[in-house]
Amino acid sequence: MTSNRKACIFCGSTTNKISKEHVFRNALRKYAPSDLGMMFENFTTGERRELKDSLFDQTLRKVCKPCNEGWMERLEVQVEPVLAALIMGEPTSLTQHEARALARWAAKTNVVRGHTGRSLAVQPSAAAEIRDCEVLPSDWHVLIWRYAEATTTDLLRHFDTDIYTVEAHGGNPDTVHHGKAWSQEHILVLGQVIIYSRFSRQPEHFIDHLEDSWAEAFEMTCLQQCVLPEIGETVSSAELPMLKVGELWKLASILPRAFELQTGKRWDGGDLYPRQR
Ligand SMILES: [Zn+2]
Repeated sequence: MTSNRKACIFCGSTTNKISKEHVFRNALRKYAPSDLGMMFENFTTGERRELKDSLFDQTLRKVCKPCNEGWMERLEVQVEPVLAALIMGEPTSLTQHEARALARWAAKTNVVRGHTGRSLAVQPSAAAEIRDCEVLPSDWHVLIWRYAEATTTDLLRHFDTDIYTVEAHGGNPDTVHHGKAWSQEHILVLGQVIIYSRFSRQPEHFIDHLEDSWAEAFEMTCLQQCVLPEIGETVSSAELPMLKVGELWKLASILPRAFELQTGKRWDGGDLYPRQR
């Protein structure tokens, strides 16, 4: 019982006792409508998998007790009132402090969720930053939307690739760089709020912007078009505009199961995304 070989995914401790962490805090269950389960997509391999368990029943044994009962618990408690209001579609405005906490919560949840889906695009150093920061590093993108319907579902997407870039130095022979780019996005629908978080990291010398490749490959342009306030430094408060776009879930690539629920038809792939070519 005393020797834990597994390292905590947030603090890296191999000596702390590992405890059971709920991916989604049980306390949230009382605000959210019954859930549709979880989906995992690996863009690198094309793998697509559905997790049969309910969203709220998913647990993970990769977080140490001090993390679980310390900063993570504090963060959960801190965001619960505002998260509950958002989930239930109540008029809500966020202070900058609340927005930052919610963004951290989204990133934390993304990482924990990533581990249940066996996506490890957020490396330990980046996971540790969530624990220590007040404002998320720029590798993270967190956005939220109001959603007209009330449902509960989630989708995690993983992407990683080797990148080669060639740099020309004033006409001298080119330098070839090699590195790996990672991205992991989590689209979470809880009641009437959609929480989108994405982590992207690429080699420092990488010339192209990963966002662009991501956009092209995965229709991120569609998402950007309906982006409402970005959570983080720029959100000063204001209300979160209510978005009554019945088809938002299509734009946000929300789960096939949500599609089935709302239309009674089977999801048959990407033809629903408006192409932006
Ligand atoms: Zn820990």
